[in-house]
Amino acid sequence: MANTPFLQAVSVSKVYPGAQNSGINKTDLTINQGLITAIIGESGSGKSTLLKLLYGLLSPDNGTVKFKGERIWGPEEKLIPGHDAMKMVTQQSDDLNLFAKVRDNVAIMLPSTDLKAKQQKTDQMLTQLKMTRIADKRVADLSGGERQRVAIARALITSPDVLLLDEPFNQVDTSFREGLQQDIRRIVKETGLTVIIVSHDPAEVLSMADELIVLKDGNILELGNPKEMYQAPKNLYTARLLTNCTVLTAAEAKICGLKTKSDHVVIYPEWIETIKTWTNNDWEVTQVLFKGCYEDLILEYNGVTIRVLNDQFGKYAEGNKVNLKLNKWLEY
Ligand code: ADP
Ligand code: MG
Repeated sequence: MANTPFLQAVSVSKVYPGAQNSGINKTDLTINQGLITAIIGESGSGKSTLLKLLYGLLSPDNGTVKFKGERIWGPEEKLIPGHDAMKMVTQQSDDLNLFAKVRDNVAIMLPSTDLKAKQQKTDQMLTQLKMTRIADKRVADLSGGERQRVAIARALITSPDVLLLDEPFNQVDTSFREGLQQDIRRIVKETGLTVIIVSHDPAEVLSMADELIVLKDGNILELGNPKEMYQAPKNLYTARLLTNCTVLTAAEAKICGLKTKSDHVVIYPEWIETIKTWTNNDWEVTQVLFKGCYEDLILEYNGVTIRVLNDQFGKYAEGNKVNLKLNKWLEY
């Protein structure tokens, strides 16, 4: 049926025995095919639980999870837990054979009925994930990032419909991580794979996701397009997750020259300009935090602290006095 949702949670709850306020509360969710959906939330918000429910590693207490219209079986109902059309990669990819070569770790996922096809497909996968250089190394000799690549190659070579990733790049260094993220994006575009990634890293979800789901205390707080959500999050919680923003009380906002009837004003680092004026250079630069291709300036005035993005290196030193121009802010 054309209108059957691809992967769907209907009124799904899961509370862990003896741990009230844990897990996931009565959640409705539809995952669209061929896209990358990212689930973001603070630690303990239920991200891993939701992923396991979607995969069939956990059975919901109430509600159902359906894949292409059919209910997903829980671990009690199935010999090998997890839906056959899905593959999951987590931080601990401990099913790798450390003493076998990378190539063999990947190839073993395929049946041996056609050895030539098996070899071809393995080579293709290794090329796609830029792993030919490490193909003949033992897994034991690889870095953490390279091992995660092997885990992802093992998941992808079986051509799953859905790839589930639970914070898989946590141990991976930044340069490696970005390469892997973009390779996965490319594979999604080329093959129509559906990816669901759980993360608490804003850079990761914003650069990878087509759709973003924000979880708080086991509930979906908001969902939508990452770019739109970044510019106008509906909740303070979301703004805090997505960027290192300044959160001011109404009284503090007044000190910054902003009048508000809301409880909180949120200002992103890139929404503030530092300027020099004849008078009112009241804000003191108390810290200059080097970030590589930009600096974060920490400014203080009258007990209020603000974080500002600065790309003009060396322009300010600690102790300098500046004035501020606020270009945008959000009220909650
Ligand atoms: P996240 O992945 O967002 O950090 P989890 O889904 O792992 O969150 O956990 C959500 C909540 O459920 C947390 O409060 C956690 O302590 C609790 N929880 C997770 N697994 C169990 C378990 N097996 N038994 C009891 N409580 C659990
Ligand atoms: Mg988790």
